[in-house]
Amino acid sequence: MTKETIQDIHVEKAASTRINEVDFNNLTFGSVFTDHMFECDFKDGEWKNPTVKPYQPLTLDPSARVFHYGQAVFEGMKAYRDDNDETWLFRPDENFNRINKSCARLAMPEFPESYFFDGLKTLLDLDKDWIKKGFGNSLYIRPFVIATQSGVMASPANAYKFIIICSPAQSYYGGEVRVKIADHYSRAASGGFGYAKAAGNYAGQFYPTNLAKEEGFQQVIWTDANTHEYLEEAGTMNIFFRINDKLVTCPISDCILDGVTRKSVIDMAKDMGIEVEVRPIKVKEVIEAAENDSLKEIFGSGTAAVITPILGFGYKGDKWELPKLDSPYASQIKNKIMEIQYNKAEDKFGWRY
Ligand code: PMP
Repeated sequence: MTKETIQDIHVEKAASTRINEVDFNNLTFGSVFTDHMFECDFKDGEWKNPTVKPYQPLTLDPSARVFHYGQAVFEGMKAYRDDNDETWLFRPDENFNRINKSCARLAMPEFPESYFFDGLKTLLDLDKDWIKKGFGNSLYIRPFVIATQSGVMASPANAYKFIIICSPAQSYYGGEVRVKIADHYSRAASGGFGYAKAAGNYAGQFYPTNLAKEEGFQQVIWTDANTHEYLEEAGTMNIFFRINDKLVTCPISDCILDGVTRKSVIDMAKDMGIEVEVRPIKVKEVIEAAENDSLKEIFGSGTAAVITPILGFGYKGDKWELPKLDSPYASQIKNKIMEIQYNKAEDKFGWRY
């Protein structure tokens, strides 16, 4: 793939590296950041000042719009290192397109591919030692855009920053995950911005998720805001249900994030000969399938863990456990996708970059 490039990224290198202070065998997800960050500004109607510089705090006016009206969007993606020390991204075009869709929905300016890809490349070149070899190790990449214009007027800002920060990640085991199916709270409404990776979508989930945690669940599976009859997605994952040998997931809508992993799971499962149905799924159908033992697996898909198996679920006070299988689809599909991410298998889909 060739892309238009920006020639003039200003690079200011860190005087020393912090890498020796980091215990790469004991990383808490998203808590340690690499030596550098990419930053650029939107001012006077255009993106400018692309800079890679030492990771550092931002100075913003307390009235900056991001603090008051929540104009903030982000992405989550990963870089992987193969056995030959080459660095790979997984379907980064999808993240680029999605952050621009998120920007558009929040009345924020979209930005050119070059700022995303050249910024990322310059940053990863400098911080490549932070990407550790080994199946499961990766560098989590967090691009984000915030409104920096000062003034507490409830209207879109005219100044923004686009920043990329990176955090080393280990093979991610999310622990035992049981989910509560939402019957009262909702994450997104039709006509809203659930499909955008906007900060506010996450803030709104914390309180109902805390309530679910008090009941012994780790996450919530959201249902449609109108009827709570149809399943949508989990906190940071799209969801799949295996009913007998068929995999079912709900279609993308304006309430659901169009997950890169979700798309990849659908394509990979089909390629493995698994029948996949993309259609609306009712809570009732999943409960009936659990009752008659045709519900074999539920799993979530997302960049952090690729696939997270779900051990059980609860709905309106009742609880169901899923069977333990010898070779679940979840681990079969996860392995196949990871082999592509780590350049251990042929990439017939063209996903590696
Ligand atoms: N849904 C939500 C709400 C998410 O935050 C994420 C994580 N980005 C996903 C689904 C999964 O998306 P992806 O596979 O692109 O990581």
